[in-house]
Amino acid sequence: MKWKTHKKITLEVCRYFGLEAERIAEASITPDIAPDYALYGNTHRRKRRVKHHGDVLENAYNYLRLARYSYVNGSDYTRVLGRAVHYLQDYAVSSKRGFLFIKFSDDYLHDVKESEVANQPVPFDAISEADKTVCYPHEFISKASRIKPSGDPEVAMYNATYLTALAIKLVIDPDIPDDLDRLRVYRVTGYVFAFLPLLFILKSLFFIPISLVSSYLIYWMNPARNLKKDMDWLNGKID
Ligand SMILES: [Zn+2]
Repeated sequence: MKWKTHKKITLEVCRYFGLEAERIAEASITPDIAPDYALYGNTHRRKRRVKHHGDVLENAYNYLRLARYSYVNGSDYTRVLGRAVHYLQDYAVSSKRGFLFIKFSDDYLHDVKESEVANQPVPFDAISEADKTVCYPHEFISKASRIKPSGDPEVAMYNATYLTALAIKLVIDPDIPDDLDRLRVYRVTGYVFAFLPLLFILKSLFFIPISLVSSYLIYWMNPARNLKKDMDWLNGKID
């Protein structure tokens, strides 16, 4: 995505939420200037540039978590928030090249598509739709992944704006489940229930595998797991 598009979307969304729009918009192009690197591969681990298109949501979420941490603790969150929205905006634009059986030169097509996206106005309804969407912190990646990268300039612009707004709301004013105060109750009952299948082992060692599996499943299904994530997010806790 072109720098002016990143800045344009970020400016509009930040103004809507009453944030330091200029600073965050400036930060929203930094992953193209100072890229992120990560280790890839199992046997031959190599350091490579983190992708900007395709599978980027996890990376964006990690930056959002850092932004939330800084926001709650009163330190500068604009730099990391800018990086997070950059990845979400790039994600919205499909990087697939070619149309039906016609293949353009990659760079040419990529440039045409990016110019078309740049010419789109920032859709206000995408911002207000995101503002109205209830999205708990633990749901962010799954909700964002339901939005697919698009080659259509209007759709790509809409989705990039929507994801930016959803992300910024998650940092400054996250939705929090009503039953957060029941976290302790869920946890205690969850542990008790998860412990019960293990009692079968006393009856016969034959039950070991099934007992362990059911115990783990019960632990895994406990709503406390997601509530704990939401609670940590609310308090700006990172581990
Ligand atoms: Zn990029």
